[in-house]
Amino acid sequence: MFIPENFKGKGALVIGAGRSGIACANLLAANGFKVLLTESQSTGKIKDRLKKLPRGVKTETGGHTKAVFSCGFAVKSPGLSRSNRLIISLKKKGIPVFSEIETALAFSRAARLLAVTGTNGKTTTTILLGAIMKAALRPGARALVCGNVGIPAAEAAPKARGRDAVVMEVSSYQLEDSSGIKPAAACLLNITPDHLDHHGSLAAYVKAKGKIFKYQDSAGCCVFNYEDARCRRLAKRCPARTLFFSSKRAKGPLNAWAAAGKLYFRLNGTEFAVKPPALPGAHNLENAMCAALMALHQGVKPGIIKKVFSAFKGVEHRLEPAGKVRGVSFINDSKATNVESTLVALKALGAGKNTWLILGGQDKGNPYAPLIGLIKEHVKAVVTIGAAARKIERELAGAAPLITAVTLKNACRGILALASPGDVVLFSPACASFDQFRDFEDRGRRFKALVKELK
Ligand code: ADP
Repeated sequence: MFIPENFKGKGALVIGAGRSGIACANLLAANGFKVLLTESQSTGKIKDRLKKLPRGVKTETGGHTKAVFSCGFAVKSPGLSRSNRLIISLKKKGIPVFSEIETALAFSRAARLLAVTGTNGKTTTTILLGAIMKAALRPGARALVCGNVGIPAAEAAPKARGRDAVVMEVSSYQLEDSSGIKPAAACLLNITPDHLDHHGSLAAYVKAKGKIFKYQDSAGCCVFNYEDARCRRLAKRCPARTLFFSSKRAKGPLNAWAAAGKLYFRLNGTEFAVKPPALPGAHNLENAMCAALMALHQGVKPGIIKKVFSAFKGVEHRLEPAGKVRGVSFINDSKATNVESTLVALKALGAGKNTWLILGGQDKGNPYAPLIGLIKEHVKAVVTIGAAARKIERELAGAAPLITAVTLKNACRGILALASPGDVVLFSPACASFDQFRDFEDRGRRFKALVKELK
């Protein structure tokens, strides 16, 4: 566990000049450490980011020099793999390497940490929980939402004081490298195989996820998805109070379940029902139950949850309505960067054969065939874009008519020319975005701009 006092007077090495690396360098410098920021990319690409560093922080770009080994400890960017050569060398020399969240939390004086993890649904759940906590906290106390949701943990968590709550989205990458993370309330939404290239095996990925509750005690709680066998197995090892939700059944040892258009909660002798947020899909019921259970454990009243649920509009780029043109609805699901997410989208929106599905981008090495069943059920035509188009067309041949559009612009225009009123254009690409766009947000914004132009 990172205890800053143990490294007084020693140099701090920050590895990686991403947003979180810059935030870490700022944080450590503000706390009196001599900081060296090392980045393997050359300066060109990261020039603007380096401008955000305070004076006194040394930087080296385009590779690492020997100076890295004179530091007393290192903090690594979440994206870096454990098999990174520099990290291995540091560890060999006995220089401890800490995660960004561990570093951030070491400087946080917040009363509590609410931490959200899982393979899918983290951002939606974190934002919703953040909204609930913001509504629930008394004047003078703040809910600081951070993690993978725009604001790095190292920027937000150290600002927290007293009765503030830190609401953090935590990825498996962050957990893998952390120890001593002790949330007052945590959750594990689901675990499906993902990021295995990074973690090496499913077992290592599951183990990383289990660190969300490893250091908790009975005063804390961890919320689990009862329908996820891996979650249920892990729950048995959880030292905190375990709470369960299910979107599929109403009976069993559940604290939250869905039935007849409502969400039901049972906790600490209280039972109540609320209308869920107006978002499509069973997965969003799960996210809502999860956020609410974490909040209820923290003493938030049902009335606040009801109010926030009725106002919550979802998160940009996740099954986001992007507008209607001549009776055809366009849905921006640019965040669907894997097949799993596109399956979730088809399950949530599929309603007969009225969907035009835009797929493609940068391939991630996984098969597209799992989409065939739902495509046959709901999709009028699959329209492909980007680098993965050929592979997608090969693997989905026969499931639905296939149209090669190459670009997103062609796809949107072409579909509108062919679609009938009542049809849905679902942009849920099942691929990464880096072949044609900066990131999935850039891709989603482009889609929304194209829809506007079509109007
Ligand atoms: P994350 O931050 O974990 O990537 P998001 O909230 O950004 O999660 O959602 C990403 C995508 O994951 C969504 O577009 C949706 O397809 C899918 N998803 C969201 N919530 C869930 C859930 N509870 N279970 C399964 N899939 C989900």
